[in-house]
Amino acid sequence: MNVTTMITPVQGAAASVMAEVFAKQQPTAIKLRTSTADERIAKLKKLEAAVLANKDAIYRALAADLHKPATEADLDEIMPVIGEIHHAVSHLKSWMRTKRVGTTLTMLGTQARIRYEPRGVCLIISPWNFPINLTFGPLASAIAAGNTAIIKPSELTPSCSALMAEIIRQTFDVAEIAVFEGDAQVSTALLDMPFDHMFFTGSPAVGKIVMAAAAKHLSSVTLELGGKSPVIVDESADLNKAARSIMWGKFLNNGQTCVAPDYIYVHEKVLPQFLEASKTAIKKMYGDDVQASPDYCRIVNERHFGRVKRLLDDATANGATVVTGGMAVEGDKFIAPTLLTKVKLDSAVMQEEIFGPVLPIISYSDVHEPIAHINANPKPLALYVYSKNQGNIDRVISETSSGGVGINVSVLHFSHANLPFGGVNNSGIGSSHGEYGFKAFSHERAVMRDQYNSTPMLYPPYTSRVKWLMAMTLRFFA
Ligand code: NAD
Repeated sequence: MNVTTMITPVQGAAASVMAEVFAKQQPTAIKLRTSTADERIAKLKKLEAAVLANKDAIYRALAADLHKPATEADLDEIMPVIGEIHHAVSHLKSWMRTKRVGTTLTMLGTQARIRYEPRGVCLIISPWNFPINLTFGPLASAIAAGNTAIIKPSELTPSCSALMAEIIRQTFDVAEIAVFEGDAQVSTALLDMPFDHMFFTGSPAVGKIVMAAAAKHLSSVTLELGGKSPVIVDESADLNKAARSIMWGKFLNNGQTCVAPDYIYVHEKVLPQFLEASKTAIKKMYGDDVQASPDYCRIVNERHFGRVKRLLDDATANGATVVTGGMAVEGDKFIAPTLLTKVKLDSAVMQEEIFGPVLPIISYSDVHEPIAHINANPKPLALYVYSKNQGNIDRVISETSSGGVGINVSVLHFSHANLPFGGVNNSGIGSSHGEYGFKAFSHERAVMRDQYNSTPMLYPPYTSRVKWLMAMTLRFFA
């Protein structure tokens, strides 16, 4: 199969159609409770084959929606999905295996196990910034865990959403996996349904709406959210390497990455060298004329262009200096890779998630300054430390909290299959990827079996013998 033509999207399907599909998935979900690893692996392989068969269409859709270069599409859209599938295929049998747990003293005479059971009918709501990766990645975990799924991709990347809807339509029965395209109205209608699990990737503001909707049915949730991910570059860091790594992580996908460096604290002693190294790094990646570079994405739409431009204008109006970049071309949704210094901490660019190619750089003299700033703000999704000083690294990690940490590396921890990926509080609840994704879509069911446990000796009536036995037991444990 090769979906090469753009399909008319099933935009804003009626709530009754969604309810019908939901009702179709409920009996399938019950049937899938007994699905075997081999059956799930076959479905994962079907999804992989469909993605690979549509590689060219995916490139075209990503180029249309985000001006994304094909190499970047391979790196951060197709490869993570294929990686997630391969990892699940290799490990699913062991993840699914019922795990025996040790017997505690009070439970002598029993056996206990944990069964990993599918949650049931799952909702996956995805964002626009990595539309393929952040839709098919969670879907792979949902399939691995034996669920059915209804997917609501973002309306802001319509070519990708239409393509994914068609890929799923051609690959799976709607009674098992279905896609509904559309905006917040479609999400709202779906959020009204009693899903067994809701997996949401997007902004903290909409995350709160999803969690409130989930509360109505006590659906479990995984919330993969965003926020401002800080970077600290201390005086011991390898500045050239740090600049290369940070500039890559920031300007990949035009800064529209949930774990993109949002702002940098640089030790004052090395600030001038770091700025020079950063300018060189940007030039090396995108050349002298960034707008002409085929390797630089664009801002997703005019609204987001206007939002990022306003952050930039507000910062400069409040005294920030543009070290490099600053150019904005509205018709092209282009903002050059922009580094700012002398940024006021209370300016909008330091208050809101930037999610675009603007990077404030703040100097500090003691590491307690960035630590205090990080702790005074919501817990970030990612925190990056560039340093050769193990004491500083340990201090930053132990005195702060964040979803994940990169030491002398940015963004890449997202792709480590053996690490949980997720935020904490404002940046997210729960985690995904690999076994963590499998668990997000599974219920860990406790199963205990009696063999010869001694609790019956403690049943009422509470005679003096029972009281003595209880007293002995308590004394033994105290
Ligand atoms: P968003 O929250 O605006 O939208 C995400 C999804 O929610 C879309 O499908 C959208 O249609 C839907 N939606 C929007 N408003 C809604 C409403 N009122 N009710 C119900 N559903 C609604 O986010 P976005 O702009 O698509 O993505 C950017 C945000 O996502 C950033 O904050 C970024 O950091 C975060 N993000 C997080 C991760 C992660 O893995 N943690 C990954 C990518 C993006």
